Amino acid sequence: MKSSDYYERAKMLMPGGVSSPVRAIRPYPFYTTGAAGSRLTTADGTDLIDCCLGFGPLILGHAHPGIREAIERQLASGWLYGTPTPLEIELAGLIVGDHPGLEMIRFVSSGSEATMSAIRLARGYTGKKDIVKVEGGFHGAHDAVLVKAGSGATTLGIPNSAGVLPELVEHTRQVPFNNPEALETLLSANDDIAAFILEPVMGNVGLILPDEGYLAAVREITAAHDVLLIFDEVITGYRVGIGGAQAAYGVKPDLSTFGKIIGGGLPIGAFGGRREIMEMIAPLGPVYQAGTFSGNPLSLAAGIATIRHLHAHSDLYRRMDEAARAIEEAIPRSGRGSFVRLGSMFKHYFRPEVPRDYREVQECDTTAFGKFWKGMLDAGVFLPASQFETNFLSAVHTNQDVDQIIAAYVTCLSE
Ligand SMILES: *Cc1c(COP(=O)(O)O)cnc(C)c1O
Repeated sequence: MKSSDYYERAKMLMPGGVSSPVRAIRPYPFYTTGAAGSRLTTADGTDLIDCCLGFGPLILGHAHPGIREAIERQLASGWLYGTPTPLEIELAGLIVGDHPGLEMIRFVSSGSEATMSAIRLARGYTGKKDIVKVEGGFHGAHDAVLVKAGSGATTLGIPNSAGVLPELVEHTRQVPFNNPEALETLLSANDDIAAFILEPVMGNVGLILPDEGYLAAVREITAAHDVLLIFDEVITGYRVGIGGAQAAYGVKPDLSTFGKIIGGGLPIGAFGGRREIMEMIAPLGPVYQAGTFSGNPLSLAAGIATIRHLHAHSDLYRRMDEAARAIEEAIPRSGRGSFVRLGSMFKHYFRPEVPRDYREVQECDTTAFGKFWKGMLDAGVFLPASQFETNFLSAVHTNQDVDQIIAAYVTCLSE
């Protein structure tokens, strides 16, 4: 069967034919039948260079032999116990050891669950009601954060999800990214704010980098107002380097959330922070949080193998940076577009200047993006199918892959 046939059947069984809206490529998505290294194989018999990489987790590419071996070893010993395991101590030790803002951590099963739990914890710890997020910030698909959210919500033009109670949305305040003054003004006028949650590098509206000094400023402002600072490092954790954005920018949040890379491609999430705050969580404290699959052995094994590999090959960040820089330098400069990059994350915007916040990102020419995206796919390069998602390179993209990506960009941007 071809992708179009699969889609005909899928759309009868699943809304939009998909399990997550960002996958709903028009007129129909391609169906993947296999993957190895930097490449995906589709039901239509094509072979694509993958710059989506599962939306970020696969920093070591598809079916990495070391991770596969770790998963297989764990499979042979069972995959769910309902008891603590030595594996979770090992992964907790690695992640806590790598991040300046962490003293304790709890594992969950997705990034959404991590931010949902971290927000509950912040409210439980401070006894305050409201939270502040950044316009266009994406923290998963739960009620408190589905307000002016990035990712698929931006693509579909959904500012506030239907089904989320207005009285709940009232408790989620918004500020623009890269605007410390707006945060200061909001926090000064309001003494019922538990936490400010943000992606330190915005990765769900394309890619928006923090201005110099912005993260240090939000650290200072939140501390002065007794508001907890939560860094959502679900994308940036182990992507911008070991230690995430908090190490890269030298700013220590009170709480941090993780997902994606820390599970090596299997479902995972985690949140952590200062001991005094984390000890508010059940069974030690009154903030309840639980999950049947939390700390599941397969995800832990894959995560440990990934992080150990990243530790052992730390030059891999430099190599990915060089490969992505080669793409950046080869992209034709035109009045139509702009390019932004941080290490192995990169994005071409159909807007003459690189956007600094959500309002600016919405000025992008999404029609031009759509045409460009299709051209890239036809040239054998799979980018996330939205102007508002980030592209990634893995450690296993070869020089030849990079050359092919560059050639595709050059062709598709000059059309
Ligand atoms: C992907 C993502 C999430 C949600 O993680 P899921 O595992 O998809 O629930 C949360 N925050 C950020 C910054 C993300 O990129």
